[in-house]
Amino acid sequence: MSIKIKEWVSGLPDYIPGRTIKEIMDEYDLEAVYKMASNENLFGPHPAIIKEIKKYLGDINYYPDSDCREIRQKISQLYKISIDMIIIGNGTDQIIEMVSDGFVGTSENVVIADPTFLIYEKAALKCGGTVIKVPLADYRQNIVKLLNAVNDKTRILFLTNPHNPTGTNINKDELEYIKKNLRKDVLLVIDEAYYEYVPEKERLKTETLVLDSDNLLILRTFSKIFGLAGLRIGFGIADEAIIAALNKLRLPFNINSIAQKAAVIALENKSYADEIREKINREKEKFYSILSKNNIGFIRSWSNFILIKTGENELEIVEELLKKGFIVRAGKNLGVPGNIRVTIAMPEINDKFLSTFIKILKNNKQ
Ligand code: PMP
Repeated sequence: MSIKIKEWVSGLPDYIPGRTIKEIMDEYDLEAVYKMASNENLFGPHPAIIKEIKKYLGDINYYPDSDCREIRQKISQLYKISIDMIIIGNGTDQIIEMVSDGFVGTSENVVIADPTFLIYEKAALKCGGTVIKVPLADYRQNIVKLLNAVNDKTRILFLTNPHNPTGTNINKDELEYIKKNLRKDVLLVIDEAYYEYVPEKERLKTETLVLDSDNLLILRTFSKIFGLAGLRIGFGIADEAIIAALNKLRLPFNINSIAQKAAVIALENKSYADEIREKINREKEKFYSILSKNNIGFIRSWSNFILIKTGENELEIVEELLKKGFIVRAGKNLGVPGNIRVTIAMPEINDKFLSTFIKILKNNKQ
């Protein structure tokens, strides 16, 4: 007799992560490989984080602070919100999972854009829920259709701003429309994993909206601009009742002690995010200009990655790029066929990437 696994488990979609540098080095016998596939901050975290966290390694025999008090206090001061409106997750992934566990039941649904970040779907299916998918319109989330898709079994509407995998934004008018038209018993989750890449004057300042909404949850992360993806720490901001419910579902020691310290230091050096945003924005402009000069299409991005149009041979182009040491994502695997998604790196790597990519694309089209 063999072990019985619940049938629905095998039906869950697989999250396919970007391939690792080591894998590609070994497979193609390369000395230098650049991972431009997972939207990490390739400049790395603030140097003070790497220096400071070493001091705490001697304490790893102790459990971490279960309540993540220090980091919640920092976020509370920064955004001028109560500490009870903040939850910390082992990456925002974990908060997405908790929120689905807490809000979605069998025969209930969540509404999401198609394509979008896969974890919303995976988390809802895991709870026995279903997913209503609304296609993008011209690579943007179709706000009117997303709201029209909400029905009496809908518990959560997930939006991503800036969107992944396209990098497009939700604007002020669209947010107004959502606020006016979304039923108050549907939880609106706005996943702002790439928030800090948006220029300051264009930001929707959702942290102030949370103060008078009892059906809004904002997600932010230390994985992206703060460069701490490997430590797994992100946070959610919402009405105290929502946070209290999520806390009931949270495992007691979900954030390790080093990640907690690193996130505090990241916020103490918050202006680093501005430096990174400026560097990335300069590099994005370079991408736009070189791609345009070569008649290659792209989607303007509010984030640290760009969708570049390749036509239908994208898998071959991704493979050719791998052979040259560049790991990027095929749009086919992200729901946007005919494109590749490229994370912006340091200037010299971007230059190497662009010249290699343009050569490959030209050869491929001949
Ligand atoms: N939301 C979006 C839109 C993302 O792209 C990602 C990471 N790829 C996440 C959430 C998850 O981030 P974290 O590392 O905080 O779990």
